[in-house]
Amino acid sequence: MTPSARAIQSTSRSELYPCYDAIVIGAGIAGLICAAFLAKSGKKILIVEQHFIPGGYCTSFKRKGFNFDAAVHHIGGCGKWGIVGRCLKSLGIEMEFYPLDPMDHLIFPYFTIEIPAYLDEYISRLQQRYPAEANNIKAFFQEFTKLYRATFNNEKSLLIDKYKDQTYADVLNAFFTNDELKMVLGGQCGYIGLPPAKASAIGVCQMMINYLKDGAFFPAGGTQEFANAIFKKFIDFGGHVMLSSKAIEILFDGNMAKSVKLHDGKEIHSGLVVSNIDARQTFFELLKGKADVPFTDKIKSMKESCSFFLLYLGVGKGVDLSNLKRGFYHTSTDSGYADGDWLYVSVPTRICPTLAPSEKHIISVVVSLKEESCQDVTDWPSFKETLTENTVNRLEAFVPDLRKYIEVKESATPKTLERYTSNTHGAAYGWAVTVDQIWGNRLPPKTPIDNLYLTGHWTRPGPGICAVVSSGWGVANLIMENWR
Ligand SMILES: Cc1cc2nc3c(=O)[nH]c(=O)nc-3n(C[C@H](O)[C@H](O)[C@H](O)COP(=O)(O)OP(=O)(O)OC[C@H]3O[C@@H](n4cnc5c(N)ncnc54)[C@H](O)[C@@H]3O)c2cc1C
Repeated sequence: MTPSARAIQSTSRSELYPCYDAIVIGAGIAGLICAAFLAKSGKKILIVEQHFIPGGYCTSFKRKGFNFDAAVHHIGGCGKWGIVGRCLKSLGIEMEFYPLDPMDHLIFPYFTIEIPAYLDEYISRLQQRYPAEANNIKAFFQEFTKLYRATFNNEKSLLIDKYKDQTYADVLNAFFTNDELKMVLGGQCGYIGLPPAKASAIGVCQMMINYLKDGAFFPAGGTQEFANAIFKKFIDFGGHVMLSSKAIEILFDGNMAKSVKLHDGKEIHSGLVVSNIDARQTFFELLKGKADVPFTDKIKSMKESCSFFLLYLGVGKGVDLSNLKRGFYHTSTDSGYADGDWLYVSVPTRICPTLAPSEKHIISVVVSLKEESCQDVTDWPSFKETLTENTVNRLEAFVPDLRKYIEVKESATPKTLERYTSNTHGAAYGWAVTVDQIWGNRLPPKTPIDNLYLTGHWTRPGPGICAVVSSGWGVANLIMENWR
């Protein structure tokens, strides 16, 4: 069967082996990539996934002919030389991506900045707008580009030592004096869910330079197609999958994981286990806290990232979207650090019209949430209702009579994200990307349990599809070195 014709379904129970070389818990992108490389090496690999489709946050859903991406809007580094591009090539996966050009927009109350697809062009536009900072702009991007390369090559580097304890605001303050410029350069921090004063400089650098240097892309057909392509390749390599199967326990023999127990009581034996799920759940629910105490104490002290409210609109023919640019809509005017509320808006049907019926469009919105706004919520339906109303009102400032054109209106709260992915409180990025939780301070992929590995946004290098692809690939290499 060709990969495209292959259905997204579980391996039939009668074909399952009694024992696997590796079980990967979770079919997020990191789990899929790791499993695909392990299966490619000829070993017996099983993926266990609680949802009925693979992809984690990289999934899509359909309503009345509109194909909505559940969370991910674009992916960094899918070109020939980017990490995702190289990884897919190495797995023999061919798929089409549309490069985003311009990459983004930053819409502030009094002005808008277009971020072009190419870093050199962005630098020159910023230099024209802020001539007194021209040299600093050049120096800042040179330094951040070198830092980015050092982090992805996993080098020991003086630059990493210099920045590992700095927030992004520390860096902006060291390079620039113009507050508006600092606000602009902090305008994409929503992609890691923290304002510059709280975000790690290395975390922002990995996200921002990845998009500016290696490009941002949208997968043809939507983000589910990206997950499906990796899933199908894994099956082609002989991998086995159990969808709609939640792992509830990892069983031990001495300091070795020996099997994984599923929600229906079935126990499957394995030579090793890779966990692509929430690290706190891995250690406190699946392992019941039975691991090295300093390691579990560290996990207890760590803090998960923020979550979001998401609005998905399917809109009918004739709607005027000419003022709705893809990017961040900020409320911040005077802080200098873009730390107010924001919306992130995209219209994926402009890139890929087949995601909706002819001449209709999808508007997808991510709404920032302050931690305190969710803490005491008990009535999630009315929380949803209020945020939906507020968000449509805000959009109407850019789309005349928007309400008249809405044909499908769906939304998701942190609770929804948690229900579909089991990320605690719907954490969008695993651990928060703060100085004390990134780089060497994030959990390592190799755990104190000899044959248990972590992959995904709860481990290094961090969140985002490009980073978790790198994580899945790196962990597979680590395991295969041991096998050799
Ligand atoms: C709203 C939103 C927008 C985002 N936008 C972008 C973007 O545009 N670009 C980008 O690069 N990144 C984006 N991100 C971040 C990115 O989606 C994540 O960092 C990345 O997808 C995490 O991948 P992962 O493989 O670590 O795990 P996840 O995607 O969290 O997948 C984990 C998988 O494990 C499964 N699972 C959990 N528990 C169990 C269990 N006990 N048994 C079996 N299976 C289990 C889950 O069902 C899930 O499939 C966004 C995130 C959010 C929430």
